[in-house]
Amino acid sequence: ALQAGIVGLPNVGKSTLFNAVSNSAKAQASNYRFCTIEPNVGLVDVPDARLYKLEELVKPNRVVPTTIEFVDIAGLVKGASKGEGLGNKFLANIREVDAIVHVIRCFEDDNILREEGPINPVSDKEIIDTELQLKDLETVEKKIARTEKMAKTGGDPKAKKEYETLKQCQECLEQGKNIRSLGLSKEDRSAIADLFLLTEKPVLYVANVDEASLHTGNKFSKALEESVKGENAQVIVMNNSIEAQISEMEDPADKELFLSEYNLTEPGLNRLIRSAYKLLNLITYFTAGVQEVRAWTIHEGWKAPQAASVIHTDFEKGFIKAEVIAYDDYVKYGSETAARDNGRLRIEGKEYLVKDGDVMHFRFNV
Ligand code: GDP
Repeated sequence: ALQAGIVGLPNVGKSTLFNAVSNSAKAQASNYRFCTIEPNVGLVDVPDARLYKLEELVKPNRVVPTTIEFVDIAGLVKGASKGEGLGNKFLANIREVDAIVHVIRCFEDDNILREEGPINPVSDKEIIDTELQLKDLETVEKKIARTEKMAKTGGDPKAKKEYETLKQCQECLEQGKNIRSLGLSKEDRSAIADLFLLTEKPVLYVANVDEASLHTGNKFSKALEESVKGENAQVIVMNNSIEAQISEMEDPADKELFLSEYNLTEPGLNRLIRSAYKLLNLITYFTAGVQEVRAWTIHEGWKAPQAASVIHTDFEKGFIKAEVIAYDDYVKYGSETAARDNGRLRIEGKEYLVKDGDVMHFRFNV
């Protein structure tokens, strides 16, 4: 599964959020399937109402949602890039994730220690950004030192291109900016992909606000939103303590009641999970049979054979064709047969770009 790493300064509410994630993970694991959860990794279902609509129509033996992993990356502090705290270890953990969830304290509470003075989400964000940028700068400069000679003397256009991209990254980082703000082309990104740069990873911010600001946000979360406008990054306003409480409730009726007391239609965690999924450019297709209705995760832009490979690697090699019904059509006609009778079942070949919500059936050679 794809991984999102939770980062932030100490005492901003990371563990509280991670507890909410891992409680949900445990609750779900007992429902669907066995799953081992490492102490700092929580595998959670991606909440998708379409899956349950399909369940209603097909009445399968079981329903399997798609999942995403959250990793708790505690311990990132000022000076981490120079090895402060457990600095380098944590930076190495971030290198492995696909996206970053950056938790920022947007609540006041004198009882909860804060070393950075009055609440200031913008400077908190910059502290973490700076650590990640310094680490990236180190990585980029090392690579520049290794490739400089080849790029300048050799006639290899690929090396030259890579070198140019590296210099561009260096300049960006020296200006205190994140690589993701460069808007690199696909080609440039693949030239530096082997570096796994931290500030290139997609990010979303969790503004951890006080209960009273749950629906409106507050001056802190608004300042944060303003400051990330140029990054085109999303800010999710939620209260991590409430999320942790919700996740501890076992009885669905209690949960409903609790949510309604806060005027919530669903846990904030669901919003976070969906946003993380979107951030990673992931889409979902479904398979729907009496045995199982299931959601599958693929990247946007994948063609049918590659999409089939997430079910089984042999499906890609032996791919013949796919029968496809768009989700809306499936629901409109109410069954595969009815959709087919109304000309809504399409036969698609190897070049078909799978769309979010497609209900697919693959034909393949074994
Ligand atoms: P971490 O160091 O970032 O993992 O922070 P924790 O999740 O351990 O939270 C630090 C402290 O802040 C704990 O005592 C939490 O109960 C408290 N806390 C977390 N979220 C909130 C919140 O939204 N409001 C308030 N008032 N306290 C919170």
